[in-house]
Amino acid sequence: MGYSIAVDGPAGAGKSTIARRIAKQLGCIYVDTGAMYRAMALFLIREGVSATDAEAISRKCQEADISIRYENGEQVVLLNGENVNGLIRTEEVGNMASASSPNPAVRKKLVSLQQRLAKTSDVIMDGRDIGTCVLPDATVKIYLTASVRVRAMRRYQEHIAKGETCDLATIEADIAKRDHQDMTRENSPLMQAEDAVLVDSSELDIDGVVSEIIRICRQKGIGA
Ligand code: C5P
Repeated sequence: MGYSIAVDGPAGAGKSTIARRIAKQLGCIYVDTGAMYRAMALFLIREGVSATDAEAISRKCQEADISIRYENGEQVVLLNGENVNGLIRTEEVGNMASASSPNPAVRKKLVSLQQRLAKTSDVIMDGRDIGTCVLPDATVKIYLTASVRVRAMRRYQEHIAKGETCDLATIEADIAKRDHQDMTRENSPLMQAEDAVLVDSSELDIDGVVSEIIRICRQKGIGA
């Protein structure tokens, strides 16, 4: 029988790094749902839609065709046929994604794409509402978090490693704002599902988190 692993948590908790590693180790597909919201946000920015104009977001999002494919095991997000992987990792797009993702029309479109993917393959899927809304019957649910400080520091180091200039205090403020938006929104807020296992990565390195999650998966018969 197929399985699904849901990983939810706030921005910068390390979900994508961890989920990618686990997918490789278990031989399943990694679905990065944040990338889909980011592709939608990029579309809205390009169309000149304001982050606060809910009516325009609901209308315009219908024109965005978002799909994914895999190249050498990596998820590629296509926006109206264009590979946008290299364009969606900016703070601007992240902030627009956080502002537009509560929109019911945006969520409806992307959640159904995510559910279709989980029906056709074994998946590890990360996001904000995977265990609570997208895959309520997931085999394993993980809630991965870390302190705001630690998460801001990780994002900062990612930008520096890419040669981008950035400011730690601004990133920390953005993360705190995004947490607040994601956790207090009416539609699918970020929260730990009742049956999710809490993993705090503040004091753990990547290997430590991966082995902890693999151990939890084995208990549920995945990769045993
Ligand atoms: O995880 P990432 O930072 O790429 O996500 C960008 C934004 O997309 C989040 O701040 C959140 O608002 C939104 N998102 C969501 N539901 C998901 C994944 C991401 O609302 N399943």
